[in-house]
Formats: sequence, structure tokens, C-alpha cells
Amino acid sequence: MENITTIVFDLDGTLYEDTHHFRYYADLLRNKLSMDVQELFEQDYLAVEDGSHTLKIGRVYDAQKDLILSHHHGEVTQGWKWDGEIVPSHEIKELYPKPLQFDLVETLSIGDLWWIPVAIAKHYGLSSKEAYEAFLQTREHMMTDDFELQPLKEFADVLERLHSKYTLVLMTNSPQVDSETIIKKLGFTSYFHDKIFEANKPIHTGEKLTFISEKWTVPFSQMLSIGDNYINEILPASLLGCSTICIDPYDIHENSVANYTVRNLNELSIKLEKLLLDNTEI
Ligand SMILES: [Mg+2]
Repeated sequence: MENITTIVFDLDGTLYEDTHHFRYYADLLRNKLSMDVQELFEQDYLAVEDGSHTLKIGRVYDAQKDLILSHHHGEVTQGWKWDGEIVPSHEIKELYPKPLQFDLVETLSIGDLWWIPVAIAKHYGLSSKEAYEAFLQTREHMMTDDFELQPLKEFADVLERLHSKYTLVLMTNSPQVDSETIIKKLGFTSYFHDKIFEANKPIHTGEKLTFISEKWTVPFSQMLSIGDNYINEILPASLLGCSTICIDPYDIHENSVANYTVRNLNELSIKLEKLLLDNTEI
């Protein structure tokens, strides 16, 4: 970590850890479903929350086949029907002879809390278009004054100090206007040297990191990628040779390639201070 000069941060779940907008998002998605399945949506959503559902963060939802999958680096290791019934492994081998490709539309990597209500809504027949509308409505809500966002003080301090010693890049899948508003609410507006919006992670993570590397003339070995979505921010960055810190609140990554794993923003603040700010103060 002593060579690091450039740090690439994800936004949601990385720069803040507020979660009440997920409930708002889930309500919007549920209300777009036909009346007869709204109660079922709710039951599933609550079951995922209390950990009793087969759908979990770290798994994959195949909307086309309506199957929930666990995998290791894309290779399907187990499959379940929606009700939790295990699909025999020989059937899974036939259905998934090749590693999974995560396309954000039919093969959903449940990498963070955004994907839980979407997967459930898709199971009950919601189109990707309607799901995306609900996403945009939620982002809109997050931009209003009704939606308050408090930064974690310790993290804000660390970010401010990092800003003067490192190149800080924000890289998010969210649109520019929404992201800038969130950054402003957090008070982080002046901390980033570069911002990439609608990054289309994980499909374009490698491409975008290459862009950053060329624009800032920094080799991958001097770049650190930080995020709470393993597939989006950790695995592709690690494959290129970047260092990585994964925020893993649910303890789901057993064989993680991340250099460091932290559980929350507080732990991240401590880790960043120790790795990148200690000993560099004069
Ligand atoms: Mg995130």
C-alpha cells in the first residue's frame, strides 16, 4: 500500500451507509406490481431482511430462469428455486456450462441492497423498464430536502486529509446530477479530483480503471479501489493489479481477493488512516 497515489471510491454504501432509501425503493417497486402479488413481494422482502429467504446478498438472481444461484468467480456452485428448493446439481451443470455474465438485466448479481427489491419485483413480473423507473424515482427522492444524509464524521475527516495527499476519484453507476447532490449533502464536494458517473460497473469497470490510469498517468499498482460491491469494484480492479479494500457488512466473501476487508465505514476510516495517512504526516 506504500505505493498508492490514486484512490477510486464507489458512492452508495461506500461514502455513506444510510439504508432507509432502500425501503422507499422497495415500496415503489411493490406498488408497480399487480395487486394480487404485492403482499407476496412484501413477505419476500421481509424474509430477505431477516435472513430466512434463499435470496441473499452475494447470490445471483437469474430472472430468465427464475433461479437463485450461488457462484464462485462466475462458476455456478448451487441453484435454488424461488421457494428455496435446491435444483439438482446435474441440472445446474447443464443449465450453466459457462461462467455467468452479469448483465444488470436478466442475470442480477445481488451485490448490494439495491438489487434485493429489484430481484423480488422481477420474480413477480415487473419489467426492467419499470424497475429502472422506480430506481430513478428513488434517486429523485434522495435529492429532495426530505432526504437527509449525515456523513460519518471520522470518515469525512479522513477523506479531507486524503484529498491533499492522493488523487481521489469517484466512480459510480449513478447519474451525475443525483450523485453530485448526494456528494453535496455529505459535504464532500471539494474532495474529488475526478468523477466518473454512469460507469456501468461491473461490465465497464476495467475499461474505466484503464481510463483513469491513462488520464492520471498512474499504473494500476499505484491505484486503490474501494467499494461495497465485490463484483463491481473489487474483483475487476484486483484482476488488473490494483489494490482493493472491500466493505463487506454481511460477511459474505469467504475467498475474497481483496487486500483488506472492513465491515463498515468506521472500520474503513481506521484502515485508511493506518495505511495511507500515518507516517506521512510531517
Ligand atoms: Mg456501492
